[in-house]
Amino acid sequence: MEKQLQRAERMEAVGTLAGGIAHDFNNLLMGIQGNTSLALLEISPENPVREKIEAIETYVQNGQELTARLLGFARGGKYEIKPTDLNRLFYEETQLFARTRKDISFTEEYQEMLWPVEVDRGQLRQVLLNLYVNAGQAMPEGGSIRLVTQNVHLDGISCGIYEIPPGRYVQTLVTDSGHGMDKETMARIFDPFFTTKEIGRGTGLGLASAYGIVKNHNGYIDVYSEPGEGTTFTIYLPASEKDVEVDRIVPELLQPFRG
Ligand code: ADP
Repeated sequence: MEKQLQRAERMEAVGTLAGGIAHDFNNLLMGIQGNTSLALLEISPENPVREKIEAIETYVQNGQELTARLLGFARGGKYEIKPTDLNRLFYEETQLFARTRKDISFTEEYQEMLWPVEVDRGQLRQVLLNLYVNAGQAMPEGGSIRLVTQNVHLDGISCGIYEIPPGRYVQTLVTDSGHGMDKETMARIFDPFFTTKEIGRGTGLGLASAYGIVKNHNGYIDVYSEPGEGTTFTIYLPASEKDVEVDRIVPELLQPFRG
C-alpha cells in the first residue's frame, strides 16, 4: 500500500512537471508555427528555401503532437464524456490498426451486452492504439493480438500497483505474442519518458499517457508479461451507473454473456 501511494505521488509530481513544460513548450512552438506560416506567404513557390521552411513546419507539428501527448498525461486535455459501447469503439480502432499490419493476426472477443462506459471516445481510442503500436513493435516479424472485452463484478482486488474498489467494471484485455519484458522493465513502463527503444523510435510517453487517460476516467491499467512469452495489458473502466442507450456493434461479432 505504501509503495502504491509513493508511486501515485511520484506519477502526480511528474505529471505536473511534464504538464508545465509541455505548456510552455507548446507556446514556443506556436510562435515558431506562426512565423513560418507568415514566411511562407512571402516566399514564391519556386524559391528553394520554401522546402526548408516546410520541413520546419513538419517538425513543429511533430513537436505539437508530442506536447499534446504530454498534456494528455498531465491532465487529460479537454474531455468530452459520452456513454459509449467500448465494443464498437475498440472494434473500429482494431479495424483501422489491422489494416496497417497485415502480418499480425487479430482475435477479437466482444462480450454481448457490454455495460456502457462514460468516456471520451478519442482518448480511449488513443489508449488502445498506443497498446497496439507497442504490441506491433514487440512483434517486428508479425504475430498475434487478442482483444477481449467483458463485464466484471469486482469485490475489491489488488491488481498490480493498485487496490481496485468493489464495483461493476468493463474489463479489456490486450494480449500480444511479442518479445515480452522482464520485471524491471514492467515496473517502469508507465513512467513518462521510460523507453527501451532506440532514440527516435520511442518517446516513452505512450503508456504514460494511456495510464493518465485511464486514471482520468477513474479506471485502472495493469500489465503482465514474461520475457519471450508475450504481454497482456488489462484495463478496468467503471460501468456507467446510469441507464443509458448506446449504439452497439453488429451482433455476429459478439460473444455470449460470460459474467
Ligand atoms: P515507447 O513505446 O515510446 O518506448 P511506451 O510508454 O509506450 O513508450 O512504452 C514504454 C516501454 O514499455 C517500451 O519501450 C517497451 O520496453 C515496453 N513495452 C510496452 N509495451 C510493450 C509490449 N507490448 N511488449 C513488450 N514491451 C512493451
